[in-house]
Amino acid sequence: MTTSHTPLVTEGTHLIAGEWLSTSPGGSGTSENPARDGEPVGSFPLADGSVAADAVGAATDALENWRKTSFWQRAKVLETAAALIDQRVEELAVLLTLEEGKTIAEARGEVAITAETFRYQAGMAKVSTERIYPSGTPGETIRTVRAPLGVVGVITPWNFPILIPGWKIAPAIAAGNTVVWKPASNTPLIAVALAQVLTEAGLPDGVLNLVLGPGSMGNAIVNDERVHGVTFTGSVPVGFGIRDAVTARNGRVQLELGGHNPSIVFDDADLDLAAPMIVGAAFGSTGQKCTATRRIIAVGSVYDELVERLATGVQGLAVGDGLQDGVGIGPLVSPGARAESVDALATAVAEGAEVIATSDAPDGECFFAPTLLAGNDRLSITTEEVFGPISTVLRAADEDEAFAMANSTEFGLSASIYTNDMWRIDRAVHELEAGLVKINAATTGSEIHAPFGGEKQSSGHAPREQGDTAVDFFTRTRTAYIRPGTIR
Ligand code: NDP
Repeated sequence: MTTSHTPLVTEGTHLIAGEWLSTSPGGSGTSENPARDGEPVGSFPLADGSVAADAVGAATDALENWRKTSFWQRAKVLETAAALIDQRVEELAVLLTLEEGKTIAEARGEVAITAETFRYQAGMAKVSTERIYPSGTPGETIRTVRAPLGVVGVITPWNFPILIPGWKIAPAIAAGNTVVWKPASNTPLIAVALAQVLTEAGLPDGVLNLVLGPGSMGNAIVNDERVHGVTFTGSVPVGFGIRDAVTARNGRVQLELGGHNPSIVFDDADLDLAAPMIVGAAFGSTGQKCTATRRIIAVGSVYDELVERLATGVQGLAVGDGLQDGVGIGPLVSPGARAESVDALATAVAEGAEVIATSDAPDGECFFAPTLLAGNDRLSITTEEVFGPISTVLRAADEDEAFAMANSTEFGLSASIYTNDMWRIDRAVHELEAGLVKINAATTGSEIHAPFGGEKQSSGHAPREQGDTAVDFFTRTRTAYIRPGTIR
């Protein structure tokens, strides 16, 4: 059975200064359903740099009033948005699956966590970020206050097209900033649906501006002097280009980039726990998670049994249209994404990787059978991020080799180990070079109230997203020295 699907939004529009606009100097684009060979989900106008500049202008104009708005009012908007998202979980999830391809269960989960993110950041808006310091001068108070960063550019990818924008937009507007948002071109309609939620929730005109268009249009936001900071999630080359442009004009930049996440499995691990968790972390969301398990490092004697169990898990994956009952893995997001996985698999095999297991996958221009490889750490696929459902099992002789292998990547987003040895667990927490270290848990998944981010090339140097640290990127700290105005 297939879940019924009437998309919530079929015609995308920009949102600038509270107006829904279809200005399309760059022509129009089509949002395509990857499960149905690109069947149109809807259309959207393509902005250019001048439309992006208008959006920045609207955000600039709205800043003064929004900055001065009471935190109660900002929190109220976020709480109302959370309630509206909760009411629309099903419609939003269907739209998400139609555009991105993930399963309806994954989409429902993503939408529900987005609502929680808005609710959590509404709560955080009411928590003081001020601090009082002792002063060496009698009668004086030293106090830090937070001012909003200003106009913030938000540039987001397609793989979590409602949640990642929520991670960024919710704390940005909670802290009194105004936003210009450029979503990914593969998932424009879910972006429009989220912008609709926020306007319905009472967000004043110009506080959130949405511009739809290609990456080149994003450059106009990045290079605009009126944009005080840019928060970006996406690929390393684009992220580093944005970093260079924004820091060159002394703007602030936050980057969440790729990953090449290892899971180490020791011979004392509970394989009933580890094997299904690793299969889920490697292949869930069709491997299109920045935190997906790309390398599985089997230490010593656990190798054979682990490989057997992983193979069984992979063979049992049901690939298909994410709206169909019983489907666990959807298509890749686009034909181009599929081509990358096809090429990467061919290269890996040519370099000596062995295919251990695959599952059945339907015909279709975006479907790709999840594939488990056995290999070594000299294969390109064990160093370069391939954003698809391919994961490689590696063999390590002992703990030292396993930790060295885990860290032998330019990325540092997430890493996990499976063991019951407390010494190893302690070592993992301190020595695995990753922003997220998971013990007996999947490399994927995080909680919205805890800081999220990576090390090495997986992130920039800005404060962490999510949790109580999210506000740090979106505010400037001012230190006030306050003395009585008379001499006593
Ligand atoms: P891209 O870097 O290609 O695109 C991300 C966003 O940047 C899109 O909105 C894109 O627009 C836009 N963009 C592209 N070029 C420019 C430019 N020159 N200036 C401004 N904006 C631009 O990444 P993908 O969409 O391929 O996303 C997948 C990547 O994201 C993976 O590497 C993955 O690991 C990473 N990721 C990291 C996460 C993390 O938290 N660390 C989480 C999720 C994903 P358009 O779509 O129009 O091209």
